[in-house]
Amino acid sequence: MTSTGKSPWLIHYDAASCNGCDIEVLACLTPMYDIERFGIINTGNPKHADLFLVTGSVNEQNINVVRQIYEQMPDPKVVIACGICACTGGVFRDCYNIYGGVDSAIPVDVYAPGCAIRPEAIIDAVVVGLGILEERRAALDAGAALDAGAALDPKEA
Ligand code: SF4
Repeated sequence: MTSTGKSPWLIHYDAASCNGCDIEVLACLTPMYDIERFGIINTGNPKHADLFLVTGSVNEQNINVVRQIYEQMPDPKVVIACGICACTGGVFRDCYNIYGGVDSAIPVDVYAPGCAIRPEAIIDAVVVGLGILEERRAALDAGAALDAGAALDPKEA
């Protein structure tokens, strides 16, 4: 496991949540659930984040914000949809201004349903996300090694 794998940072964005799921995300940061035991820090800066944790559905007002946060995050990155609204639009999916779940704006890696999602389910989703992050980091590193090898290959010169 890489050093960043041991201390991944996450950014949490409340899309069109009713705040129910957000309270559960906050519960994960308390000593009772203590998500920091995995080395995770909740950052407000997408450029420092490895995990993008979204609550609530995507609508006309927030779709560009969701996309901008995602685009500012460095690769590799993992997106976790927290709660049924983030997974599908949930109870808001038929509202006039709702596009749907987070995957209506950006690719989602982990779907964690629930209304409201329980802290244990959030932590499970984050642990799954960490596995995906490690795989992507290894693939990127392997790609970088291949690129470096190709550049050093005298036959290529
Ligand atoms: S899944 Fe339930 S608790 Fe979470 S944002 Fe939607 S309505 Fe609120």
